Amino acid sequence: MAGAAVAARRTLLEFDAVAEAGQLGRSAPAPGSGTALTPKLRRTVFDAQQRQDLPGVPVRAEGAPPTSDPAADEAYDGLGATYALFSDVYGRSSLDGAGQPLQATVHYGIDYDNAFWNGAQIVLGDGDGEVFERFSKSLTVIGHELAHGIIQYTAKLIYQGQAGALNESVSDVFGALTEQYFLRQTASGASWIIGEGLFTPEVNGRGLRSMSEPGSAYDDDVLGKDPQPADMTGYVETTSDNGGVHLNSGIPNRAFYLTAAGLGGYAWERAGQIWYDTITEPNFPADCTFSLFAAATITAAEKRYGAGTEESSAVQAAWREVNVMV
Ligand SMILES: [Zn+2]
Repeated sequence: MAGAAVAARRTLLEFDAVAEAGQLGRSAPAPGSGTALTPKLRRTVFDAQQRQDLPGVPVRAEGAPPTSDPAADEAYDGLGATYALFSDVYGRSSLDGAGQPLQATVHYGIDYDNAFWNGAQIVLGDGDGEVFERFSKSLTVIGHELAHGIIQYTAKLIYQGQAGALNESVSDVFGALTEQYFLRQTASGASWIIGEGLFTPEVNGRGLRSMSEPGSAYDDDVLGKDPQPADMTGYVETTSDNGGVHLNSGIPNRAFYLTAAGLGGYAWERAGQIWYDTITEPNFPADCTFSLFAAATITAAEKRYGAGTEESSAVQAAWREVNVMV
């Protein structure tokens, strides 16, 4: 148990940090350059066969029937569900907006307690089986990792401090929306838990993070208590985890939840549209702070729905509630 617990604790505090380490310094190819890509869904799932070499052996290509491997099929379906959210709802073709093929690798490493985006694809570990189950089980996790890819092509938020926490938060937002859209859940009917179902029954917890009540996702003898703050009064100043990017993301996460809950109905429709408009705004600052981001969401709401509307009021009230001053 001890080894697994140590690895799991590290995952909880620095979930998918490897992703962004790989992402840093990597420049994305310009979309639309060279051969024009047909905007359609093109998935490939690979099996790393418990090694840590990427991408691994291809096991399911687009249109191929299910394999006998649940991890490979969950990854395939998760890529499809994430593509569907962005394509159907926001009119975006894949991560780069130009139909980039989607790739996932499963069975990465041995008892690997993490999932990540490496700058070009998502990677899913099997979990240690004592604290974590396989990471492909969570649609929010698959959507979260792919959202890091979208940020790489849009807002380009740096992975440090408040901008890093916003990178994490926006990934949680679209991870949650991927699952809610797939299940056709309303804001009031959704769990707002990131990584629901990832813990084994041994763990006292609902998932990695709660967007509606940050700090309440788990409270376990071995893992400790979820350390996320729910508003600016709990903002964590730290040098670890790139300045607490996985902790302070709880604050903008709750602002999104409050916006969605305030508007009601499907969160991907108005709240999600406002957040999507915000990160795809040209000249978005890569070193964005919480205050600047809050102001940008209000501007986006006013631009799409008008000033003084229900939408712009909901966004402003949400940021006030988490004590982020615009
Ligand atoms: Zn992340």
